[in-house]
Amino acid sequence: MKLSLYLGTYKRVKVFIHWTFSLLLLWIVISNLRANAPVEDILWTLLFVFGLFFCVILHEFGHALAAQKYGISTQDITLLPIGGVARLEKLPEDPKQELWVALAGPLVNVGIFLFLAIILTVVGTDFQNFEAMHIDANSFLMYLAVANLILALFNLLPAFPMDGGRVLRALLAIKLPRAQATKIAGGIGQVLALAFIFYGLFNNPILVLIGIFIFLGAAAEVNHTQQASFLKGFKVKDAMMLKFQILAFDAPLSKAIQKLLDSQATHFVVVRDDVAVGTLSKDQIIQGLQNGDENTKIEVVADFSPYKIETEMELEEAWKNMMIKKRKVAFVIENGHFLGILDQDNITEFILVKSALSK
Ligand SMILES: [Zn+2]
Repeated sequence: MKLSLYLGTYKRVKVFIHWTFSLLLLWIVISNLRANAPVEDILWTLLFVFGLFFCVILHEFGHALAAQKYGISTQDITLLPIGGVARLEKLPEDPKQELWVALAGPLVNVGIFLFLAIILTVVGTDFQNFEAMHIDANSFLMYLAVANLILALFNLLPAFPMDGGRVLRALLAIKLPRAQATKIAGGIGQVLALAFIFYGLFNNPILVLIGIFIFLGAAAEVNHTQQASFLKGFKVKDAMMLKFQILAFDAPLSKAIQKLLDSQATHFVVVRDDVAVGTLSKDQIIQGLQNGDENTKIEVVADFSPYKIETEMELEEAWKNMMIKKRKVAFVIENGHFLGILDQDNITEFILVKSALSK
């Protein structure tokens, strides 16, 4: 989050804006100056970009607040130059809930469009007088209205990772198993993506980029849902590691390097007086070496607030939580006692084994 500027919090959802957004603003100013555009025009264009991105934030809040209704919280909303991203704690698996959460975003833009259209009609705007692609005080609201309509339609394209892809999946999942519904929706998305790429090659390079973005997004979603389906029905205790490498908190990093090279482990349990108190990862060892040397004490780089999960937790839920919280390893706890660890590599291997067995 260091690369994003914190804007504020509404309904417990933090809003950030990514630093690359400033590049977009800079590009607008420079390209307009090179075209010898008057300062007034540049200011209107910038105001339009801010207005549009405010609508994108409202779109993401549509998703976030709809999810909140189903008890799903949103970590944060980040604004990127290509649009917004709402990081939901999880996606609703009930098709009807997923349908509403996915629809809520585009519906916000449709709402804004209708609202602005009414205002424009009431004040009696004359649409004949507009110069094409020229934003000023007269055309500002009209362009904002049109942009919201385009945003809604674009997001409703039936292709992952667009909202429309989720809408399609949710509709299919009312009748079909989720993994199969995802496969079909993903396939439709990829066909659409190829059409974009093909059409774009002869007409508009931006469509090629959008096509590639959709194609990869669809593949990732199908892959992810399939992997999750292999974890279904299993608990954390089925995949956890009871055998693990331990290191004393006050040992030097050289000890850790030795174990790293001797074993297949990439995560270690750090102990103090025979009690597990933290974790040490390969990355942390390397970081420790970069900032110091191999005599650096393990306690300097280890993580002493490990993520904790219960043995009886659903494996799929643990996997998703670890991904959202960006934890590569977790302490597995039973009746309040430390039992073992679960790491991402563990889960990946578990998925590999289950998918091999299912063939
Ligand atoms: Zn959306």
